[in-house]
Amino acid sequence: MKQQEILLGNFAIARGLLEAGCSFFAAYPGTPSSEILPGLAYFKEKEKKKNIYFEWSTNEKVAFEVAFGAALTGKRAAIAMKQVGLNVAFESLLHSRSIPLRGGFVVISADDPGPQSSQTEQDTRQLGIFYQLPVLDPANPREAREMARYSFDLSEKFRIPVLLRTTHRVSHARQNVPLGPIRSVRKATRFSIEADGIPYGDRITRTLKSIEKEFEKESNFNRVSLKYPPQKKVGIIAAGVSYAIAKDFLDDRGLSTSIPVLKIGTVHPLPREKVEGFINQFETIFIFEETDAAIEIQLQDKERIFGRWNGIIPSEGEIGPEVMARVFLPHLHHLKLIKDLPVEDAELQQALQSMKIPPRPPRLCPGCGHRAAFFAIRQAFPEALFPGDIGCYTLGVNMRVVDTCLDMGSSVNFAAGFYQAFHQDGKQPPVIATIGDSTFFHAGLSSLLAAVKSGKRFVLIILDNEVVAMTGMQPTPGTGITAKKEQGNAISIRGMLEALGVPFIREVDAYRVDEMISAICQGVEFTKAPEGSVAAIIAKRECIIHAQSQGRVQPLLNRVEATKTCTGCRACINSFDCPALIWNPERKKVEIDETICVGCGICLYACPQNRSGAGLFSLQQTYFLEHPIPSP
Ligand code: SF4
Ligand code: SF4
Repeated sequence: MKQQEILLGNFAIARGLLEAGCSFFAAYPGTPSSEILPGLAYFKEKEKKKNIYFEWSTNEKVAFEVAFGAALTGKRAAIAMKQVGLNVAFESLLHSRSIPLRGGFVVISADDPGPQSSQTEQDTRQLGIFYQLPVLDPANPREAREMARYSFDLSEKFRIPVLLRTTHRVSHARQNVPLGPIRSVRKATRFSIEADGIPYGDRITRTLKSIEKEFEKESNFNRVSLKYPPQKKVGIIAAGVSYAIAKDFLDDRGLSTSIPVLKIGTVHPLPREKVEGFINQFETIFIFEETDAAIEIQLQDKERIFGRWNGIIPSEGEIGPEVMARVFLPHLHHLKLIKDLPVEDAELQQALQSMKIPPRPPRLCPGCGHRAAFFAIRQAFPEALFPGDIGCYTLGVNMRVVDTCLDMGSSVNFAAGFYQAFHQDGKQPPVIATIGDSTFFHAGLSSLLAAVKSGKRFVLIILDNEVVAMTGMQPTPGTGITAKKEQGNAISIRGMLEALGVPFIREVDAYRVDEMISAICQGVEFTKAPEGSVAAIIAKRECIIHAQSQGRVQPLLNRVEATKTCTGCRACINSFDCPALIWNPERKKVEIDETICVGCGICLYACPQNRSGAGLFSLQQTYFLEHPIPSP
């Protein structure tokens, strides 16, 4: 029997890439794509394979271009990123079609229907249609592995990049996946600009036509569940994880022998003959796909289609079984294909409604250094303008110190824009921008250069926690740790700031709230001085979760019983937002959740009792704070 392993979807993709002979891989971390690179590292290590290169690139454009360069020399190269990450490499993606490849090139973009951890539900398949690139859409981890392998064959055969679009429910599902041998492709590395004599536009059109023909062939990726359906009233077309859900939905209700499903794995170019042939057999067709109507918009005749385009299926969000039940079962009932509609359990509904589950918005972890920095900012200048950025620290919005969060690196540009706009009207409110260390390297450098060059004045706080925490603790360029967990060249943030001409630079431990406040005040003062410019503060504190995982966190503080000293003023809860601080409504006092408090002691700064010598802890000196908190 073939060897199998239960794999996470992203590991299955990694396996497929390696089995196809991928020897060059670059990525920028972003949920839900981040585990593909660790998957490559896992299999490479496990099977002691050599000559497979992978890197965490500084951003998605860098990842795209280094890997594309490798593919031009004959390598099988791939990249991975989340869907909004691909936006950073748009231009590279568009123009990459015009250079015939010598090797294979696969672009893996992980979409986030819902969305669960992104700003938008952006559907990469639409981009493939718009840019005229082939798009594959796996339904489960097993198929994701097969498609990863196939993508390279397709890319090399037609000499263009192939988009492999996954979604979080495929990337983060686990399935028993058959394993094939990891292959090495022996092709001499060479580079020359090849012109095939065909005008660019013609080449794309011809290539897509040929690919469409290939997709028309009977394959596992595009298949019909019932060859001879017992009825002609309704059929389903489904793609990606929506296919897997539709299949379970029909199986669970005993409908899979009466409702045929056409599964589409090759979404663009659409195997039109196959799709239209299927549609023409039925009076009505439901199309289940996430997140946009990528299949639906490619159909010329939408007369009998029930989908997202015409609003019958909600135009946003995931299509779970509850959505299918809501939109599909009434149709079956109307067509007399089912006798009864399921009746809602009134008692259950009532019980659910009576449960008052408090909303739990995401918050920074207990002990997070970002919270300490945000607290200091708010204490120093509560009325400032606060451009923010993308990372864990976007959650500074809970502490009212993040006003904007547009995209990676936007904090610096917003700060410059805010400064200039007010300056034109003769005003200069304090502008305090925050950006994470990885985001600073990703997209902050050229923006900062522009701001310094054009004389903008604002405070930029670089929150340096040494990892890309939100996406799984990948190392940042500041540490110099490589994707292989080896020590490489560390890039100093201070050095970058100096090179960019920032005249005011302070490095402060984010936990030292008093020093942070003082540095921020000096920074704002500097922005108003005659020689003023950008004032940069590097707020350093290792991510507490990372520190814990490395065994770098010491035992907790000795606490006094909070209720003895707490007056119930709630100042700490209101200004500090630590999940370990809990309000006890019966005792009307704050308590500390011992199970999650890490004993960082930073909330001492927020407690007025501390100033009179009491507070929540018996120690005023902690592992993190070598010095007592100063009196006000
Ligand atoms: S993961 Fe780390 S950086 Fe992110 S909120 Fe938690 S402690 Fe802070
Ligand atoms: S010491 Fe205070 S700030 Fe730190 S984790 Fe515990 S409750 Fe939160």
